[in-house]
Amino acid sequence: AQERLHQLGASNRHLPIEAQLDTAVDLIRMESELQDALAHDQFYLLYQPIINLTTGAIAGFEALIRWDSPHRGDVTPGQFMALAELTSLVVPIGEWVIKAGCKALKQIQSASPKNTFMSFNIASRQIEETAFMPYVLNTIRSANLNPAHVKLEVLERSLFDSETTLGWIQACREENLPLALDDFGTGYSSLEYLSDYEFDTLKIDKSFIDRITNDQRARNICQAIIHLSNSLGMTTVAEGIEEPAQAAILREMGCTMGQGYLFAKPLDLDKAIALLAQDQVWLPPVAD
Ligand code: C2E
Ligand code: MG
Ligand code: MG
Repeated sequence: AQERLHQLGASNRHLPIEAQLDTAVDLIRMESELQDALAHDQFYLLYQPIINLTTGAIAGFEALIRWDSPHRGDVTPGQFMALAELTSLVVPIGEWVIKAGCKALKQIQSASPKNTFMSFNIASRQIEETAFMPYVLNTIRSANLNPAHVKLEVLERSLFDSETTLGWIQACREENLPLALDDFGTGYSSLEYLSDYEFDTLKIDKSFIDRITNDQRARNICQAIIHLSNSLGMTTVAEGIEEPAQAAILREMGCTMGQGYLFAKPLDLDKAIALLAQDQVWLPPVAD
C-alpha cells in the first residue's frame, strides 16, 4: 500500500500527513471513477480543426478526450490522463479513443470527401503495449479508412531510446501511419530524436507561439524550428494560435499548418462536420 501511495504521488513529504492522505484517497477515488467512466461510456471526443496555412482550408482534426463525470462535471485530459497513465487505464481508454475517433473520421470523410486526417494523442504506456498497434490497424481496417489519414501524436518526453520505441516507430512507417512529434520545444533532447526517428509532422508548442508577436528571440526560434522541420521534409504545425498576427507571421515563415482558438476550439462531431462542409477559408492578414 505504501508503494501504491508513493506511485500515486501521495508522498508529498512537505505536506501535513492529513493532506498527504487526502491526496492519496482522492487519487484512489478518481482511479475507480475512471474505471466506472469506461464501463458507463462517460468519455467523449472533441475534434479541433487543423488548418493548412497556405490554402486556409481545414486539413484535419485532432481528437481530444473529455470526461463527462457524474461527480466532477466536465473534466479535461490534463486533470485525469496522468493518473490514467500511471494506473495503465490509459490502455483501454486509448483503445476507446482510437475506436471512437476512427468511426468519427469515417463519418467526416463520408460527409465531405476531402482526404481529411485525424490526429490521435498516444501515451508512452500505449507504445509499450504490444497489443496496441494491432488494435489500431484492425480498427482502421474495419472502419475502411486509409492509414495515411490516421496520424499518431507522441510527446518527445514519452519516447525512450529502447528497442520497443524503435520497433513501434518502424511499425508505424511500414503500415503507412503518419507520426507527429507533439509539444516540440518543451522536451530536452529534441534534435537527437529528429535525427534518429523519421517523423512526418512536428508540432511547435503553444508556449513559443504565445511569444511570437512581441519577442524577437521566440520569433527567431520559431523560424529556426520551421526551417529545420521543413528541411527534413516534415509538415510543421503551430499549436495554440489565438491571434491573426500570429497566423500571419507563421505563414510568412513557411509554417505549413496551424491549430488554435483563432480558427476553432475543439468541436463536437456535428459541428466539426458542419464546419468542414462550409468550405471556409482562413486567410491571415499580411505580416508586418
Ligand atoms: P495537445 O495534444 O498538445 O493538445 C492541444 C491542447 O491545446 C488541447 O487541450 C487543446 O484544447 C488546447 N488548445 C488548442 N488550441 C488552443 C488555443 O488557441 N489556446 C489554448 N489556450 N489552448 C488551445 P486539451 O484538450 O485540454 O488536451 C490537453 C492535452 O491532453 C493534449 O495536449 C494531450 O497531450 C492530452 N490528450 C488529449 N486527448 C488525449 C487522448 O485521447 N489520449 C492521450 N494520451 N492524451 C490526450
Ligand atoms: Mg496533441
Ligand atoms: Mg501539443
